[in-house]
Amino acid sequence: MILNHGVRGSVPTYNVDTSYYGGSTPCVEIITNEAQVIFDCGTGFSKVNFSNDLPSIIIISHFHHDHIQGIPFNKTLSEKSKKIFISTALFNKDKLKQTLTNYFSPPYFPINYFNEFNNINFVDFKDLETSFKKFNFKSFKLNHPGDAFGYSLIINNNKFCYLLDNEFYDNQLSSLKDFCEGSNSVIWDGMYTENEIKTKKGWGHSSIEQGLKFAEKLDLNNLIISHHSPDRTDQQINDLIKKYSNYQIQFASENKSLKIWTE
Ligand SMILES: [Zn+2]
Ligand SMILES: [Zn+2]
Repeated sequence: MILNHGVRGSVPTYNVDTSYYGGSTPCVEIITNEAQVIFDCGTGFSKVNFSNDLPSIIIISHFHHDHIQGIPFNKTLSEKSKKIFISTALFNKDKLKQTLTNYFSPPYFPINYFNEFNNINFVDFKDLETSFKKFNFKSFKLNHPGDAFGYSLIINNNKFCYLLDNEFYDNQLSSLKDFCEGSNSVIWDGMYTENEIKTKKGWGHSSIEQGLKFAEKLDLNNLIISHHSPDRTDQQINDLIKKYSNYQIQFASENKSLKIWTE
C-alpha cells in the first residue's frame, strides 16, 4: 500500500484551492507485511504513524528543505521503544547524521533535536539490505541541482520507484527506463506542465507530459504524478486529469491510499 502524506513541491501550500490534493511537502510511505518504508520527510512526514511493530526505514532523496523539514514534527518518531533506520544514497551515514544534526539545531532550530533521543540508526545505503534481507533497494542518480537520488524497492516481486526531484532530459531515457523496468508504480516529479517548464530550465524538475511519455515507453500502468507546483490548484489538477484521461496516470493526493501490492 502507498500512502502519499505529502505531494506538494518546494513549500507547504495550505489553502482552499489546494485542500483536496493537499499542501504538505513530499513524504511517501510504503507499507508491507515486512516493514514500513518512508521516502522523504517533508511536512507530510508528521502524519506517518510509527506506533506499530513493523521495522521502520526512512530513505531521503536529498536535503532540500521541502524533503526534510517534517522530521521533528512527527510525534510517534520519538517513541523510545521503536528502532528507526534512516539512510540516503547521497551521503554516507556519518555525513547523513552530521547534516541532519546541524539542520535541526540552533540557530535553525530551537533545540539539538537528534541529541534528545537515540532510537534513530543512521545506516549506509549499501548496508540496508543486510538489515532487511527481503528487500531489494537500488538507487539512481537524478538530475537535480546539488544532486538527488531516486530509488527502487522490490519486495515479493513487486517493484516501486520513487523519482523526486528530477529534471528529465532525453539522454536520461535509456538508463532511467532500465532502472524502472518492471515497476508496478512510479512516482514522477510532475512539478510543471509542458508550457511551464519552458522557462524553468535548470530548476531541477520535470513536466507531467514528460512523465506520460516515459510511462508509454516503459509500458507502465501506474504513473503517479507528485511534487505538484505550489501554484497548482485542485481545479487545475482536475482539468489535467480530464485532459489526459486516455493515459494511465494518477495525481498523488494526500491521505488517499493506493493499493499496489499483491502480498
Ligand atoms: Zn523538492
Ligand atoms: Zn530539490
